[in-house]
Amino acid sequence: MSRLDSFIFRMTAQREILNHLTGKLDGLDGPILELGLGNGRTFDHLRECFPDRRIIVFDRAVGAHKTSTPEPENMVVGEIRETAQQYIGVNAALAHVDIGTGYDEKDAITLTWLPQLMAGLVAPDGFAVSGLELQHAHLEPLPMPPGVEKGRYFLYRRV
Ligand code: SAM
Repeated sequence: MSRLDSFIFRMTAQREILNHLTGKLDGLDGPILELGLGNGRTFDHLRECFPDRRIIVFDRAVGAHKTSTPEPENMVVGEIRETAQQYIGVNAALAHVDIGTGYDEKDAITLTWLPQLMAGLVAPDGFAVSGLELQHAHLEPLPMPPGVEKGRYFLYRRV
């Protein structure tokens, strides 16, 4: 499989999982957290899927397309490992994290802190969506929606 194929599968997985969650946050009051703004594509999709929900976005820099740049009050700039600490207990209805690098050794370092952080950010019964597999006792893997290959992207419910 080429890197282009792999990229397309990953983008498809992101879109299908976010679409799948549309309408499933109704009993959850908290904000949505987007960890990793990047170009702002998934932020833009989240806005479309959840137009009435506050979306707080984290990145070490603001580099998104200008049409997909969050309002300053919803943009938290800095290293996520540090900046997100003050949001522990925010009871997010959904947190999406897309900060994998494609380099196993770098991602292994991220995975020393990310599962614990995500479990602390998401409300009980809320959802965590991640490009990296998160192993944590309070994050229960959910089945993938149709059209998403197993292991391509990850979806959890906070227990
Ligand atoms: N989902 C985004 C989109 O649709 O455009 C793409 C996200 S991009 C793959 C990853 C982003 O996460 C980059 O902008 C990078 O700066 C940010 N990032 C990665 N690791 C980070 C960290 N530890 N702290 C802060 N930002 C980080």
